[in-house]
Amino acid sequence: MILADIHTHTSFSTDSDAAPEAMLQSAVFRGLTTYCITDHMDWLFPLDQGLFLFDPEEYFAKLTKLRDEWSDRIDLRIGVELGLRDEEDVVEPVRQYYEELLRKYPFDFVIGSTHCVCHTDPYYPQYWEDRTGTEGVLRYLEAELWNMEHYDDFQVCGHLDYILRYVPKNRRVNKDKLADVIDAILRTIIRRGIGLEINTGALRRNYPDTNPSAAIAARYKELGGTLITVGSDAHFAEHVAADFDRAEAMLTSLGFTSYATFKAGQPEFHKF
Ligand SMILES: [Zn+2]
Ligand SMILES: [Zn+2]
Repeated sequence: MILADIHTHTSFSTDSDAAPEAMLQSAVFRGLTTYCITDHMDWLFPLDQGLFLFDPEEYFAKLTKLRDEWSDRIDLRIGVELGLRDEEDVVEPVRQYYEELLRKYPFDFVIGSTHCVCHTDPYYPQYWEDRTGTEGVLRYLEAELWNMEHYDDFQVCGHLDYILRYVPKNRRVNKDKLADVIDAILRTIIRRGIGLEINTGALRRNYPDTNPSAAIAARYKELGGTLITVGSDAHFAEHVAADFDRAEAMLTSLGFTSYATFKAGQPEFHKF
């Protein structure tokens, strides 16, 4: 059984109002033994540069206190989800900001996610205005490949194919054309010792798959990957560990025998 949810958000993220205490309560209620808060840091978010940032000083003060207060009930880890960027004009400032952040603060776990591409967030319809479905997805995956190759000091690739959730309903995506870049991403993370996150966030939005899908997880295993984490991406207390039974069934059917949690950046493996 998966007893750790290590990708979740609280009111330190712009897109969540959940009190950290409510999230912890929900994690304890669901029988988890380890729980990690990974609020958003998207330095230079294109639409509004103040979005998706928190004050790390305040974050550590609050979460360190909660970690101590809740230590007899659950093992709280302090993490962050970094929004990585490949656009030429923002790479250097983004890289510098994250390097300094990670040097200064002792995060247990860092998720490297690709949220923005071509100075926009594909969540918004404008991204798709002048791209076919396949082009939009490919451009995103190419950015993700670049990010996995060029950033350091993060432990897993967050929600690898989550762009597929945002493809407009009237666009088709030729999945055969994605295979090469997905393979390149998987080979890169395996070579660099970066894990693969299985994110269950989309399942509760009527999307049929985890991100990445079972097919990608299978390919990761085939290429020799073994470092898997599981996260709900909960932004509400009721979504902590949501659909973990489905993630576990998928992973065990593919032959994975363990999942990882992280403390001070180091993996700990747990049998299903
Ligand atoms: Zn994300
Ligand atoms: Zn997230």
